[in-house]
Amino acid sequence: MLSLPLGNVPTAPPILFIALTSLLGLIPDTAMKVFYDPGCLLHDPPYEILSGQLVPYFESPARARNIKHELESSPSFKIIGAEGDLDVLKYVRMVHNEDYIQYLRTAYQEWVEDGGDKSAVLPETFPHPKLTSVLPSEYNPDVKTLCPIAKAGFYCFDLSCPITEATYMAITASARAAISAAKSLTSSAKPSGPESSVFALSRPPGHHAGSSLCGGYCFFNNVAIAVRFLQDSHASTMSEGSNPQGEMLPIAILDIDYHHGNGTQEIFYSDGSVLYVSLHAQNDYPYFTGSTKEKGSGEGLNRNINFPLPRGTTDESYSSTLRSAASHIKHFNPAYLAVRCATAPALSPKASADLERDATSLGVDTYKDDPISDFKLTHACYGEIGRIIARLDKPTLFVMEGGYAVDALGSNVRAVLEGFEGTDA
Ligand SMILES: [Zn+2]
Repeated sequence: MLSLPLGNVPTAPPILFIALTSLLGLIPDTAMKVFYDPGCLLHDPPYEILSGQLVPYFESPARARNIKHELESSPSFKIIGAEGDLDVLKYVRMVHNEDYIQYLRTAYQEWVEDGGDKSAVLPETFPHPKLTSVLPSEYNPDVKTLCPIAKAGFYCFDLSCPITEATYMAITASARAAISAAKSLTSSAKPSGPESSVFALSRPPGHHAGSSLCGGYCFFNNVAIAVRFLQDSHASTMSEGSNPQGEMLPIAILDIDYHHGNGTQEIFYSDGSVLYVSLHAQNDYPYFTGSTKEKGSGEGLNRNINFPLPRGTTDESYSSTLRSAASHIKHFNPAYLAVRCATAPALSPKASADLERDATSLGVDTYKDDPISDFKLTHACYGEIGRIIARLDKPTLFVMEGGYAVDALGSNVRAVLEGFEGTDA
């Protein structure tokens, strides 16, 4: 069942990461910072294959433009360019395998040189377990020897991730926006409130991307990269000898995209330092993950909590489930770390209070008019979602994920953020 072990050790204040994202003129000091990199717009495939049809690409640059335009119109937000001199790859490598990164960087060029269509790289065949079942269990081909279209199937699990000439630049820009937002959060002196919440308007999204796998419009897992940035930043600021066991900063990720974040789940599945909580549709994309039975493994056991919801879910049942999910985050505390740290000293209560963080991922493809999803949330629900998250009273990073009703996208994102900030009254 969906339960976390709760202990009696004092709870520490988490940072919250939410998948979401200046204004000319007067901007109040309390305006939420929105981090954005125009390079995010460069990924623009001409098509995708959906439900057996060749259709225009739903995860389009217009999504980011609509959100940016909406937030620019409000004094509640301040749009800031992502930091250009960040070592983005350093943090990408903390999440994704090197061969996968190099594949994404070189796939298009190799594809074209091999005679592939210049519009985009797209796989044809996948190493399905039944296809490889007669091969040794340690099946691990020398990927370097595979032809470009075989590599495309090896590193991707569906047909939604065409790689164009500019895709690598766009996914790097998307990760840069998330890291910039996370960096801003670490410099906030206040534990909660507007100055300790930021929005990364990242695009392409990230939560379907695994350590060596793209899919679901996702290539680099932006939230996971931001989490590793925060953990690395914290570790580098600890005094020598204060953390001899190399304890990682505890962080919770709340994923409220319509679809299960299979990639984020995979990346942190055996990691006890990250609590992953997801609300998503059952029996919908990506179909094969997201059940309540997926609880994590090893040190990550019970740190993976899935809340699958039926198609047609409405405002009331969604909000009720989100409150339950929030209660798990609220009780995510170092006491559990002490249990799993049977081979390592528990953190002191003060150290724990300094460390604990939460994170949330926000997608708004839960909207009733979303063209590829099947929940029935109304615009009014998004303000309530923001208020429920705000009651956790944690420093929060929102990172944009899905949402494909483009005309309503910006207003729904704005509603979540203003509900969180309490500026929607
Ligand atoms: Zn989604």
